[in-house]
Amino acid sequence: SFHKSKGQHILKNPLLVESIVQKAGIKSTDVILEIGPGTGNLTKKLLEAGKMVIAVELDSRMVLELQRRFQSTPYSNRLKVIQGDVLKTDLPYFDICVANIPYQISSPLTFKLLFHQPAFRCAIIMFQKEFAMRLVAQPGDKLYCRLSVNTQLHARVSHLLKVGKNNFRPPPKVDSSVVRIEPRKPRPQVNPVEWDGFLRICFIRKNKTLSSIFRLKNVLSMLEKNYRTLQALQSSQNSSLGNTDIGTDTPSLGDSNGDQSMGMDDGSDDEMDVEDDDGDSDVEGEVSEFKDKVLAVLREGQFEEKRASKLTQQEFLYLLSLFNKAGIHFS
Ligand code: SAM
Repeated sequence: SFHKSKGQHILKNPLLVESIVQKAGIKSTDVILEIGPGTGNLTKKLLEAGKMVIAVELDSRMVLELQRRFQSTPYSNRLKVIQGDVLKTDLPYFDICVANIPYQISSPLTFKLLFHQPAFRCAIIMFQKEFAMRLVAQPGDKLYCRLSVNTQLHARVSHLLKVGKNNFRPPPKVDSSVVRIEPRKPRPQVNPVEWDGFLRICFIRKNKTLSSIFRLKNVLSMLEKNYRTLQALQSSQNSSLGNTDIGTDTPSLGDSNGDQSMGMDDGSDDEMDVEDDDGDSDVEGEVSEFKDKVLAVLREGQFEEKRASKLTQQEFLYLLSLFNKAGIHFS
């Protein structure tokens, strides 16, 4: 019997298993990470193709079944099974990841992989179709969202295969897609927390102009708070250390634990409830002074009339750098 809560849908079409393994481009020297091996249909093909398979499986019954299936075969000493939740497991070194995962862990798992070090060659993963389409969406596509931008900052993502429900037993309610994720090398030099905070704001309403988003009261007051905090820190540092460069550096990715929190909320439905405010009612000089500063940054890069739904990776990076240059920070 299969556990629905663990997302147990076994791949029953051997041709599909074959084709996933083929598309993975496995080398005979590869250490392969498999997530959720289940009864081992994919595992067997991976063992044939690579040097070693490390399989992480949550369900102890599946672990037993897997061990039973491969013990006293030539594969047994090339298979290592780790029992546990992949999200809570320290992943070992691997060259390539191949997995038919339970869909409820799609987002946190994707971010865990994107931040994994040392970077692997690629991951070939079966996702729910809608999730896969968000991962690969390009500017202007209907499904382009924070998840697309965040993922594509760290990796090249491509759609490999459409997979119908009937390839699984029991069949899930949704269609699936196999996606290839290749971490970018070198890693992007962006502070992941800063980047995520910035995207959350740009995507508050992805079809609204940036100038209307950056006029929102909540957005401005949050940014101004960050701005004042940094200024205060800076001036106290200046007087004690003579150091003027604070808060603008970019810690390397992977040093941060921001990955999990980012992953839990993937920004698939980006519309957020915020108080609309065109700001004209602000009378305090300070508030509108800061607002002018923010809007001047948008103007400088000609972003006022642009919308997140159509911005490219490079444009987001450029706009963030303009904000940071003006001392405006998102974390
Ligand atoms: N790979 C097998 C196949 O293709 O036939 C089974 C895939 S099934 C969709 C997902 C598997 O992941 C199940 O065996 C389930 O027990 C396991 N699983 C569920 N949650 C997990 C987690 N958090 N960590 C590791 N494995 C998990």
